[in-house]
Amino acid sequence: VVNPRTGDIVIDLGVFEYGDIPKDEIRFDDRVAIITGAGGGLGRTYALELAKRGAKVVVNDLGGARDGSGKGSSSAADKVVEEIKKAGGEAVANYDNVATAKGGENIVKSAVKAFGKVDILINNAGILRDKSFLKMEPENWDAVMAVHLQGAYNVTRPAFKVMKENGYGRIIMTTSAAGLYGNFGQTNYSSAKMALVGFMNTLKLEGGKYDIKVNTIAPIAASRLTEDIMPPDIFAKMAPEYVSAMTLYLCSDRCPVNGNIYNAGMGFFNRAAVITGPGVVLAGGEDGFPTAEAIRDNLPRVSALKNGKPYYQLNDQVGDAMTALMNPPSAD
Ligand code: NAD
Repeated sequence: VVNPRTGDIVIDLGVFEYGDIPKDEIRFDDRVAIITGAGGGLGRTYALELAKRGAKVVVNDLGGARDGSGKGSSSAADKVVEEIKKAGGEAVANYDNVATAKGGENIVKSAVKAFGKVDILINNAGILRDKSFLKMEPENWDAVMAVHLQGAYNVTRPAFKVMKENGYGRIIMTTSAAGLYGNFGQTNYSSAKMALVGFMNTLKLEGGKYDIKVNTIAPIAASRLTEDIMPPDIFAKMAPEYVSAMTLYLCSDRCPVNGNIYNAGMGFFNRAAVITGPGVVLAGGEDGFPTAEAIRDNLPRVSALKNGKPYYQLNDQVGDAMTALMNPPSAD
């Protein structure tokens, strides 16, 4: 694509040709969905909306406190199941802990037992243990990793097996702007949330040929996780219902993308991606290898993101590096 103002050739990162996508209502009839941490907040909203559109839903929630402490209670998941049933939908509750391998297996088993399969998995369960870095003791690091990262692994692995056998699946990872961009006091949470992006990046490749698509949502919503972070007037405009359209679409059989990240909140949606710049080949020093001084002298060119692109997989980056190397060094 040529930029009409500057004449630069730019890669259009935003517009995809998806072909003919039917414009009828997006339905989930005969689909079975597992939503972890669906006893409140965003997960509850996803569960209600999916059920309203015909999905059979497993509402998982261990019902613990915001920081993951406490014994847990079945009432959070039960209430959402009741809401779904009252509205004429189908759902079962599950109280397992995503942070254990056994818990993950049980969640998937309860879907298969109740509804015979798993088509959709939304990895949504989460806790917070915010501390500035030196106060971040190992137990606060580990607890957050266990729920967000191991939790997604524990549930996704048995779910992926069922999806692969059936030749269909939609998996959602839940990241956060804290992980994508950084947020003071959340080294544990940011690490876990960004790790889920890496998890998606590879799983999307492994699931592709079985029509298993893996995408990631970075929500912003009023919930107990954000009630003390957001000013009250903004909090009121951030109902989780403003997020669910994106999550639902990514869960649908119409979803054309695999491996994308979307920010969603307050009715605003945009795509986030790891963009890689075009780079530069640097000539070697006396021993033939590029020097630290060459990096210093060329840092703006090495760092430039203009005409950057989001690679689909590792080989794309290696391919571009090889192509650049086959041309003579363009800087010294
Ligand atoms: P929430 O606290 O209302 O929901 C999280 C749910 O997960 C709770 O009901 C909790 O009981 C459940 N849960 C916690 N640990 C669990 C475990 N081990 N096993 C099973 N269930 C467990 O918070 P929310 O804001 O709705 O968060 C949902 C997801 O969205 C989380 O992954 C969170 O990190 C992410 N997120 C939220 C925001 C936001 O602005 N609210 C922003 C970025 C990311």
